Parts: sequence; structure tokens; C-alpha cells
Amino acid sequence: MSGVAEAATAVDRAPSAAQVSAGNYRKGHVRLNGFDFTIETVAGERRAPHFPPLSNHYGYVCRTLGADGDQVDVFLGPGAADATLPVFVVDQVNERGVFDEHKVMYGFRDRYAARQAYFDNYWLGWNGLGAMTQLTQQQFAAWLFDGDTTAPASLGKAAKPVKGAALKLSQIAGRTDEEAALRRAFAAALATVRRSVARQLPGLIRKVIKASDARVQQILDELDMSGFSVLMDDEDLKAAIARILRKVGARELKQLKLAADEADGITDQVNVDASNFADAYGAELVGKRILSDGTLINNPSAYWRIDESTREMLRSLVSDAIDDGWSTGHLEKEVSDAAAFSDYRSEMIARTELARAEGIGKMMAWRRSGVVKRKRWLLDDDPCDICENNALQGPIKLDEPFESGDDAEPAHPHCRCAVVAETEEDPNED
Ligand SMILES: [Zn+2]
Repeated sequence: MSGVAEAATAVDRAPSAAQVSAGNYRKGHVRLNGFDFTIETVAGERRAPHFPPLSNHYGYVCRTLGADGDQVDVFLGPGAADATLPVFVVDQVNERGVFDEHKVMYGFRDRYAARQAYFDNYWLGWNGLGAMTQLTQQQFAAWLFDGDTTAPASLGKAAKPVKGAALKLSQIAGRTDEEAALRRAFAAALATVRRSVARQLPGLIRKVIKASDARVQQILDELDMSGFSVLMDDEDLKAAIARILRKVGARELKQLKLAADEADGITDQVNVDASNFADAYGAELVGKRILSDGTLINNPSAYWRIDESTREMLRSLVSDAIDDGWSTGHLEKEVSDAAAFSDYRSEMIARTELARAEGIGKMMAWRRSGVVKRKRWLLDDDPCDICENNALQGPIKLDEPFESGDDAEPAHPHCRCAVVAETEEDPNED
């Protein structure tokens, strides 16, 4: 048995909540390449009730001080014993995108494997990855023991920073095929709309200026964003979202430990719900709804509208173009560089949609299960007011929305909260 595997067998797999908060339960210890690691939670177990089961052992490097005041956290990869592998230090960010603490990815063969493993250890839609810095084992030792481990590692001098957001979309392997399909679909839709906006804008600006009434809003309103309708016909996107919902639903149902004879029927119902949602999904993204006879109508209750948010993101660009009298060439260049159409944005949309699918899939399974009575909003570190208010409500009825108006997470982009099910009836009700 390897040192890591042996250390893992020593870890108490089911410590009580009190033991976890006091930190006094059996952990595993292993020395690798001169570093002393403590394993707190083994792969397959959860770090906390609202976390998914880990795909790697998780713990910390002993005798270090992390940014959160605890020791520096680490995920141990399959190559943890290999002294030749680089080490990847994630600058984890909070819900507001501000540096929070480090997570060290130790024992991963390259930055793609490290990045993928990082996301595998969180729930869908997790937005914690800020920068990721690649270090040699020697640089890692220097950083751990002589560097400032309370500041983002990407600011360190010895380190060569690898910016998470600076990776080209095409280089980023999705965590799953479904995630990759979402990213591809959103990137393709943004590219279609980018080309169309670049064609339309010069003419619209000329027209409005000629009318000596250079109103930004008028130009924005007139921009044709119908290019986003490619999302409605994207069969890969539809299939991916259905598979994600089925996976989330199956995971939730498994946790509820239903009787075997009931479970199959309920799973079938959730799968039908997932397909129905997926059929309407693309239309909803562009603010439409398809009626049963196939006609398309505007959907005032669309969760969010990708076309409207894109319009808003172009506001300052259009106003600069008017104020500074940009040439058509300059305007085209600015449109093609606009954040609204960037790889970063398609990744953010995909991630927010994954978080939403997590919440929707949970609700589908819980509703069909018949045993989930109530739900509760669990906060991640450093949450915003919207989420805090949801959590303050305590357990609420399954079909009631939280104060933010949401049925389940996320309450906003970058939201890292999770809603959990309660199967007990409320003792105060009859
Ligand atoms: Zn939140």
C-alpha cells in the first residue's frame, strides 16, 4: 500500500459535526518529498454536508499558515509521491471575486489536470478559481516556509503565474462532456452575435448621429441580437442540459435512500422532467417560450436574457464610439475585443448555468421523491446580503421560493451557496 493510501485508511470517515469543528477526530499523516501532509477528508467523503463527495484526498500541509488562519489546504493527486511533478497553487476567490485562501493541487501531472481536479472537488458552477500558479517542488517549499502564504501566490516573485481566466477556451478541458458542451454552445452563440453586432453598429451609429440625437439607448435597443437564437436549435446544448439534470437528480435520489421499488418510477419521472426542461431551455435563454403548437412567444418570466445582458454590456462601448467618433475599423476591433463576447464570458455563463442546473435538478428530484418536506439555504464563506437573507429564513417549504425569489441556488452569478433538503416535517406545523 502506498503511503498516501495507508494514511487515508487511518482517517475517521464519519466524524460528528462537533468533532469537525473542534478538529479532534482521527486524521491521516503522510510525508512525501519532504512535505508533511495531513489528510482530513478522504476521497469519496464530503468535507461538509453541502459539499459533493471528494474526488481527491483533502487536507493540509503541516506547520504552515494559510490565508484563512488555518494551515495551507491541499488536494492530493494520483502522483503525490512523484517528486518531479510541479505543484499548482490556486488563489481561491470568494463570491465577490476577492482572494480568499489557497488550495494547493499536489500530485497532478500538468495544469490542466490540476484545474480539472480542482473543479471536480466542488459542486457544479463553483466559481472559486482565481489565478493558478505553477511552482517547482523547490519553489513550493520556498513559498510555503519563506514566502507570504497569506497573499495570492500569483503575486509571488519566484512563481510563474498561470492566469485561470487567461487560458484560451479551446485549451480548457471541461470537467465533463456536458460542461464542455455548454461552453461550446455559449462561445458559438457569442461569436455569432459578435459578428452581427460588428456589422450593425457602424450603420446604427451613423443613423442616430445624423438625426443629431446620439442616444446610446436607442442604438442598443435597435441592435439585432437574434443571433442568439442559435441556442434554441443547439441539440448538443439541449442534450447536455438534460444529462446534467438527470445526473443531479439521480445523485439526489440516491442520497434519499428510497425503497428500491419506488426509486425506479421516481427516477423515470425525474428524467421526463429533465427532458421537458431541456426542450424549453434554449428558448428561455433568449427570452422566448415555445407553445405546444410550435409558435414562439415572448416569455416575461425568463430567468435571465442573454441578449439583454449583452446589450447592457455594450453600453460603454457604444457611448465611447459616439463621443470619440471612432472609425468603423476601430469600432470593429473594439467589438471583437469586448468582454461581452470573450471566452471568459462564455465560461462564466456556462458556470452560472451549471450552478442553475444543480439547483433545478435538485428541486426536480426532491419534488418527485415525496419525502423531502423542506429545504434550507447553506452559505459559502463570505456570502453577500442576498444569500445571507435566504439563509436566515432557516428551513422553508419545498415549493416556497427563498427571499431572493429563487427556488434553489444560485441567487446571482458567482453564487457559491447550496440548498439542502430536509426530510423531517417541521415540528411547529401539523
Ligand atoms: Zn450565494
